[in-house]
Amino acid sequence: MGSPGCGKTTTGQLLSARLGRPVTDIDDDFLEPYWGMPVAHKLSLVGNKMFIQEEGSALLKFQANPGSIVSLTGSNPLHSEAMDHVARSGLVIFVDVHYEDILQRLHKMKVDRLVTHREGQSIADVLQYRRSFYEKAYDLRALCERFESVESVTTKIDRLVQNFSSPMNYASTRSDSDGKAIHHFQDVILRGLAEDGGLFVPGKEFPSLTWGEWSRLVELSFQERALLILERWLHPDFVRPQTLSAIIDKAYSRSNFSSEDVIPIVKLEENQYLMETFHGPTASFKDAALQIMPQLFEQAITKETNSARYLILVATSGDTGSAVLDGFSKLSGNSNVRVMVLYPEHGISSVQKALMTSVDSDSVKVIGVDGDFDSCQSAIKAIFRSQSVNERLMDAYNIKLSAANSINWGRLLPQVVYHASAYLDLVRQGVIGMGDECDVCIPTGNFGNILAAFYAREMGIPYKMFICASNVNNILTEFFQTGIYDLRQRKLQVSTSPAIDILKSSNLERFLHLVTGGDGPMIKNWFEGLHKDGIFKVPNEVLETISDKFNLVSDWCSEEQCAKTIRTVFKETGYLLDPHTSIAKTVADRQTTSERPMIICSTAHYGKFPEDVSRALQLPLPAENDDCSGVLQQLKTVSALPSFNQGLESAVKKPRVHNSVISDDMKNITREIETFCAEW
Ligand SMILES: *Cc1c(COP(=O)(O)O)cnc(C)c1O
Repeated sequence: MGSPGCGKTTTGQLLSARLGRPVTDIDDDFLEPYWGMPVAHKLSLVGNKMFIQEEGSALLKFQANPGSIVSLTGSNPLHSEAMDHVARSGLVIFVDVHYEDILQRLHKMKVDRLVTHREGQSIADVLQYRRSFYEKAYDLRALCERFESVESVTTKIDRLVQNFSSPMNYASTRSDSDGKAIHHFQDVILRGLAEDGGLFVPGKEFPSLTWGEWSRLVELSFQERALLILERWLHPDFVRPQTLSAIIDKAYSRSNFSSEDVIPIVKLEENQYLMETFHGPTASFKDAALQIMPQLFEQAITKETNSARYLILVATSGDTGSAVLDGFSKLSGNSNVRVMVLYPEHGISSVQKALMTSVDSDSVKVIGVDGDFDSCQSAIKAIFRSQSVNERLMDAYNIKLSAANSINWGRLLPQVVYHASAYLDLVRQGVIGMGDECDVCIPTGNFGNILAAFYAREMGIPYKMFICASNVNNILTEFFQTGIYDLRQRKLQVSTSPAIDILKSSNLERFLHLVTGGDGPMIKNWFEGLHKDGIFKVPNEVLETISDKFNLVSDWCSEEQCAKTIRTVFKETGYLLDPHTSIAKTVADRQTTSERPMIICSTAHYGKFPEDVSRALQLPLPAENDDCSGVLQQLKTVSALPSFNQGLESAVKKPRVHNSVISDDMKNITREIETFCAEW
């Protein structure tokens, strides 16, 4: 299926020869014999207006041979009943050719009018109009490069069909290649964590796009890019592209994201660009994933045959919690999912706390923990792995546990989109040409965000250097320099960038899996060692691969330097960084070369950390300690850029409704879970 001139007929014939299957061309092999006249005659006989109707009625009589290839006409999809009829007999593949190419081909074929052409319309208008029908009907999209040959398009379609019958699967980072338990996306998003304590990773090669295909995405909106990227990952049996498109539009609507570009790229200084990921409802990059992920989660539940209910357990270093609460609260009244958030009571900002503890809904529970993020995360991981807790929740309440942290694959996947999109934006702005390299610098805690950037590279985005920026909790910097991950001498320090106050960086496990080419037994060895002894060491070859093949550079920034960078960048550019972005900016300054542009991931809005940002700017702090609206107000008047996040301001004025604070042992947390489940 596709526009006139997209090559359907020729591709159909080539595919037929290659696969040894019969082919039917609807124009020549069906309509002509059916009407007993050439299609052009029929058209002049019935006229433009009636043609679609006539063609549709005819198509309703068409029965495809099993195992055959059918080349539709360009106007078949405009008759929805007939299109549904055809679609029921097989897979619908949309041959998506750039409309400039189509125009050129039609020009060569001397076609100057198309069916459904109205007076005064250009051919481009008609093609655009028709495109919406193709978009409504396809199962798989063959995205074509500009001027791609029909032979090449044929190969592409052949591969699409093969992939359709062997969809992406996932396995634990800790499984060996033989006894591997294979899971599909639906299962992976619902479970969160693999049974053996590992994390789910793709069990096959990543889907990737050629530069020619990526080039097609340059002129598209963020939402369209998201669709084209995510449909490579999500099988139409799990979510049809049309449903996925609706999910994406809902997630990245203007009421959710205050920027039309969703995640805009702005120039900060020579060769440095900020990726502003904070325009969502809770003002951190977490929104980009968590406006999508709950919808995919809901999709997975509706596909489940059992009728279990799900409790999403979240350990948060501040930003995940609010983003999860916002994302899941927008599900359409689905009573089968509830959320429980655990945050370190003394380790997050006042605004972060206010955003979470004011969410007034029966389906959420927010609890402060008298400990740090690592102890919250460890307790939750232990609960996930505890057979007795899981059995008890299942038997007594029909409830399964799941996760929405970046340990959940469904969280990571949408993050790949904005890393790819940032690169495409630099191409669109003319900063680089398609295929040119650029660097990224990311403030890193649980290693999810930077991992998604590596995944974007696996998909074909030519990122060169990846800079992993840490704050004073610089265990990752130490690890990447020495190969030793040593928790034993470390104590988590509370800093002004709480979202990266993390010592047990979960997604490092996925990264090492990627780096070692999927050596499950080795990963298992390392991470079980870390759990038991608080330390593991990787061999030098692994470190070399990380620096040579993955071009990862790691560095850290002190608290004083972080504050100083906020102050100087503001003075020099008028742009106000949040502390996490300031960590990245400080580290990026040491690595920026004149050779390539550097994208700095701005992970949160400064308004989320008003006290520390005010201190960095050496502004007076309002006397009142607990209420953060005064200090927010002050920042709002100081800063010109980036624009203020309005959502934050109204959120902090809501009253606190969650007041529990408990100790961080697993027993206590389990008891809270039980109480919450019993009330459900
Ligand atoms: C979550 C978060 C980070 C850390 O991201 P990871 O994926 O955990 O590495 C950095 N900055 C902010 C503002 C965050 O919310």
